[in-house]
Amino acid sequence: MARKKLIAGNWKMNCLQEEGLSLAKAVAAKVKAQKWDCDFLICPPFTLLTSIKKCLRGTKIALGAQDVHFAEKGAHTGDISPLMLKDAGCTYTLIGHSERRVDHFESNDLICKKAIAAHNAGLNTVICIGETGAERDAGKTIKVCQEEINGSVPDDATAKNTVIAYEPIWAIGTGKTPTAADVQEVHAAIRKALSKKLGKAVANKMRILYGGSVKPANAKELLSLPDVDGALIGGASLKAEDFIAIAVNATK
Ligand code: PEP
Repeated sequence: MARKKLIAGNWKMNCLQEEGLSLAKAVAAKVKAQKWDCDFLICPPFTLLTSIKKCLRGTKIALGAQDVHFAEKGAHTGDISPLMLKDAGCTYTLIGHSERRVDHFESNDLICKKAIAAHNAGLNTVICIGETGAERDAGKTIKVCQEEINGSVPDDATAKNTVIAYEPIWAIGTGKTPTAADVQEVHAAIRKALSKKLGKAVANKMRILYGGSVKPANAKELLSLPDVDGALIGGASLKAEDFIAIAVNATK
């Protein structure tokens, strides 16, 4: 099953206007300069969304947020609704990143509610899952991923509106990555869990990204694995040349 790869950048809580705009412009120029057969997504902080949307015009780079609230509007101080993200020019939002699961005590139930609200508003979601180092050491990686798929992914998710990102928490920002064989094993198990939940046809089309210390040096090996359909990139997405050097490995 051919799935178009998605190269996604999670800028996290980085960049003020000037730095963010110059990074987005540099990525946009590099993406425009070449023909690509992968998709691109960048997820800057909320404060940069509207200004970055302007520099992405005429490129194939989609704009995404890093989180969303499940309510349409109302008394939710500090939160942002799906329609607000659409209004700012987003077509995607990340949901359930481990930093939100930990820092903001986000549960699978809450993440699922956010995904449903985002989909209802016409946004696509990248739903993040992954085990801690302790869970990995205890041999629970696949069980944790299955539970997170079952709990965080809405029952009517489609391959069009949903992307899964497998991000082992111990690999995020640490420079450590699982072996290629381990990544493939977990991605295949995630696809099996998706198949059980959503049916084989949907699971076979749904993109599963790998995230966690992806850089130009390891991108080729990771992106060539059969069940790896792209990458969610944190640190390396803050340098246009690294982001693009990773993306080069996603094209045929
Ligand atoms: C992330 O947090 O989504 C991530 C993958 O970070 P890094 O690439 O820096 O490990």
